[in-house]
Amino acid sequence: MLPRQVIRWPAWIFQASPEWWRTACVLGTSVGQQRWPSFPWRLCSAPAFRGCHSTVPRVPGVMLTSERYPVQRLPFSMVSEEDLAAFERIIPGRVVTDPADLEVANVDWLRTVRGCSKVLLRPRTTEEVSCILRHCHQRNLAVNPQGGNTGLVGGSVPVFDEIILSTALMNQVISFHDVSGILLCQAGCVLEELNHYVQERGFIMPLDLGAKGSCHIGGNVATNAGGLRFLRYGSLRGTVLGLEVVLADGTVLDCLTSLRKDNTGYDLKQLFIGSEGTLGVITAVSILCPPRPKAVNVAFLGCPGFTEVLQVFSTCKGMLGEILSAFEFMDAECMQLVGQHLHLTRPVQESPFYILVETSGSSGDHDAEKLDGFLEKALDSGLVTDGTVGTDQRKVQVLWSLRERITEALSHDGYVFKYDISLPVERLYDLVIDLRTRLGPSAKHVVGYGHLGDGNLHLNVTAEAFSTALLAALEPYVYTWTAAHRGSVSAEHGLGFKKKDVLGYSKTPAAVQLMGQLKALLDPKGLLNPYKTLPACA
Ligand SMILES: Cc1cc2nc3c(=O)[nH]c(=O)nc-3n(C[C@H](O)[C@H](O)[C@H](O)COP(=O)(O)OP(=O)(O)OC[C@H]3O[C@@H](n4cnc5c(N)ncnc54)[C@H](O)[C@@H]3O)c2cc1C
Repeated sequence: MLPRQVIRWPAWIFQASPEWWRTACVLGTSVGQQRWPSFPWRLCSAPAFRGCHSTVPRVPGVMLTSERYPVQRLPFSMVSEEDLAAFERIIPGRVVTDPADLEVANVDWLRTVRGCSKVLLRPRTTEEVSCILRHCHQRNLAVNPQGGNTGLVGGSVPVFDEIILSTALMNQVISFHDVSGILLCQAGCVLEELNHYVQERGFIMPLDLGAKGSCHIGGNVATNAGGLRFLRYGSLRGTVLGLEVVLADGTVLDCLTSLRKDNTGYDLKQLFIGSEGTLGVITAVSILCPPRPKAVNVAFLGCPGFTEVLQVFSTCKGMLGEILSAFEFMDAECMQLVGQHLHLTRPVQESPFYILVETSGSSGDHDAEKLDGFLEKALDSGLVTDGTVGTDQRKVQVLWSLRERITEALSHDGYVFKYDISLPVERLYDLVIDLRTRLGPSAKHVVGYGHLGDGNLHLNVTAEAFSTALLAALEPYVYTWTAAHRGSVSAEHGLGFKKKDVLGYSKTPAAVQLMGQLKALLDPKGLLNPYKTLPACA
């Protein structure tokens, strides 16, 4: 993010303000302050933090997936001493069998599912991945591709003893073209590092998410991750130009073009975007990076109700148009949890809802003028009751961290039942209200937040511990509700292990059948990420 270079707020405020006000304006401008100058300024005391690292509590004792869920091991071979020796020949010194090292790779980020793999492989090259998969194919060994292991649907860790194939060492940038903004890199590059790399060259990555500090670009593509820039730059289905993929039998499929236009038949790369490691292992990515915006502003606003949130969104689209780059919302309970578990400070008055609006543009003055106009209108019409604006990099980060770290705060609150759904935007919050009544005190918290601009709700229910009774109250209720409102049961997180059986709520039987046929064609032995993405019957 670029710091704003120009003073965004009208000069009279600086001239007429006492010293504390002046300081506040440098750190960021409160639109609420403009209305109620007697309010003491609420400085954000949170550290400038963006991205998930390793702050999730390391609670021992995650139950084995095979014990918690009714799933049977398929008749794959077991890894033998001969297999380990073969892997050692392919990737000398990078065959991990130490139980302590394997523990981390066997458990997901949320600490809700756990496999019992006995081996993790760390290839560096596509050729090594190909040799590994050829061997696994011959020996009928199941494989779990793993990137940063930040996935939220249990897809990134084995269900039983599948071999973990990590892309962590496949972290080289292959090339970057500073006219076109096309980046070619290996699949294991960490998203945040790629963003730094292209930022230094005047570009940004077209996607951004709270897990940026750990997730890999290959994992992002494999899950077709949406995230915080989706509103502006759209889906990876548009920005990924080419992929290199190793198929289940070891065949290298080179679709790594850097062409914006290529209508030579079927667009094969699309099959692998969002396939969650079930059709092939992505080894390299070609991606189009947009130019780095020269001016970035973030407004964090308090809102009296969800109807007002929707009206602010309409106003925002109308008034900010081409510079609007994110429109996120969170409810009061989310704010309470980031305060309670992460000690982040609420930067505005307490409100039922909060909105984060980001603008990114090429002219600071122009953007400032537009944002001021929008904020004035939102305040005057009572749609917004308080707000603050980030005008420098630090404040922008502090405001973003309130939204980005909700997932992390929830994981500190207990066991989390997670739902990531798309709905018509006007119905986006109804299910949260409905569930609060339905679940009553059996849930600790029922919260709603998400990418409102994309019609994507993150609905989360926390409890002291996993509870089958709570699960039964939630499922299939959440899915039937979503399907009845013509929504999608997975907006951006994918299906993984946890959501594979609910595919039918969003896809017709004919579509599910075709997906099964594609899987059978590309991976006839079903070795890649078994028990995931497709329902057992597909
Ligand atoms: C704090 C936090 C915030 C998040 N925010 C968002 C968000 O805003 N939007 C969003 O969409 N997601 C979000 N996620 C979910 C997650 O970060 C994304 O799904 C991410 O794209 C996963 O990348 P990864 O490298 O960690 O993949 P992993 O978690 O390792 O794997 C995910 C899936 O992809 C497969 N896979 C991984 N690498 C490859 C490969 N090279 N080839 C083939 N298959 C592969 C795995 O087998 C698995 O099925 C968030 C997660 C966290 C923890």
